[in-house]
Amino acid sequence: MFDKILIANRGEIALRVIRACREMGIKSVAVHSTADADAMHVRMADESVCIGPPPGTDSYLSVPGIISACEITGAQAIHPGYGFLSENAAFVQIVEDHEITFIGPSAEHIRIMGDKITAKETAKNLGIPVVPGSDGGVASVEDARRIGEEFGYPVIVKATAGGGGRGMKLANSADEIDTAFRTARSEAKSAFGNDEVYIEKYLGRPRHIEIQVFGDGKGNAVHLGERDCSLQRRHQKVFEEAPGPSITPEERARIGKICADAVANINYIGAGTVEFLYEDGEFYFIEMNTRLQVEHPVTEAIFGVDLVREQIRVAAGEPMEFRQEDLKVNGHAIEIRINAEKLPNFSPSPGRITQYHAPGGLGVRMDSALYDGYSIPPYYDSLIGKLIVHGRNRPEALARLDRALGELIVDGVDTTVPLFAALLQEEAVQTGDYNIHWLEKWLDKALS
Ligand code: ADP
Repeated sequence: MFDKILIANRGEIALRVIRACREMGIKSVAVHSTADADAMHVRMADESVCIGPPPGTDSYLSVPGIISACEITGAQAIHPGYGFLSENAAFVQIVEDHEITFIGPSAEHIRIMGDKITAKETAKNLGIPVVPGSDGGVASVEDARRIGEEFGYPVIVKATAGGGGRGMKLANSADEIDTAFRTARSEAKSAFGNDEVYIEKYLGRPRHIEIQVFGDGKGNAVHLGERDCSLQRRHQKVFEEAPGPSITPEERARIGKICADAVANINYIGAGTVEFLYEDGEFYFIEMNTRLQVEHPVTEAIFGVDLVREQIRVAAGEPMEFRQEDLKVNGHAIEIRINAEKLPNFSPSPGRITQYHAPGGLGVRMDSALYDGYSIPPYYDSLIGKLIVHGRNRPEALARLDRALGELIVDGVDTTVPLFAALLQEEAVQTGDYNIHWLEKWLDKALS
């Protein structure tokens, strides 16, 4: 086992990893920008190293800075968290070249899944059902038109290098395909430096269902069921739950096995998430994330496992602590993402926290790096906390969320908390009857 791990991240996810390290008797090293000198992750880690000025590109994305910090502190492994360098295959290669262990999958697996066309092809070859669409990239308007005719409208044009919901354009009919194709291409070019696009059948009312998988890198893998992350704003998740209200135990076992077998087949190591759109009882693969997800705590709650501990264990060459038959769903968990944002436009709201009080009690987990007097810097993601509740069933989890929201105090900045109090009053949220478009429509009405 490692003696010391460096965490190449900040905020709540850095704390999450530090906590796992402490429970395992492993020393932790925080890295930080000058803007984060007073951040909670720096205070909680055993050691810290300043790696650059405030902008992420000069600090949390600075590969030389992070590698040097490992060398100075003698850290033997790097946990990347999510975002920043977590899905950067070139970074993983450099880490390995320096004989440091990357806590995550191989550079090769990250590369395959990072390119969406290759990911889809790989998924298809591994027996995972995919969204119908073009075979690979679409190079010309003529091809785009032909594919539109073949699959029938609406279709969605997506960037091969896409991420964060960017570079996607909908074409409702043949009249719209030329514009959709050209705009998607030029957006992809400017956002990702790669103008390759592909085309998929557009699903009208799917749910976003994702399967948590975990491999030991030696041909063994398990699944830890699904999360329903259909409540999205601009293709970004806002509210996540497990198990999915629409998924039966039989469906979970079936799609879970398909995903676990697929990752076992390629000797995948560590945590991964296979994302699907789910409509009329069918699963359609959209992408795979080769890292820990923001919403991993709902899975931890219902399966009673520590996914970060497990990531560290398999990275150190130890066997997985659980087998498929040990993994049983227990109750229901919900996570809400709390952002420092001002409604109705969701504009960033950085600033000083004058008062912070985290909710507690049975079945409540608050993952946040906030504290009284902390100043949220304006340079990074606006996520400031995740409130996770666990109950014996969905109604109990909802009641607990409502109760916990009542206890939470975040003063000094605007947050998205009021949104959740209002959402909990909605019948669709109470019954779990929603799809990926529901929240946008609700927001249009609620905030107008
Ligand atoms: P990104 O990597 O940018 O997050 P994804 O491919 O994971 O892109 O898609 C993000 C979201 O966009 C999905 O959760 C869904 O809401 C929407 N989406 C993607 N593909 C389709 C599709 N074929 N039909 C309908 N909605 C889609």
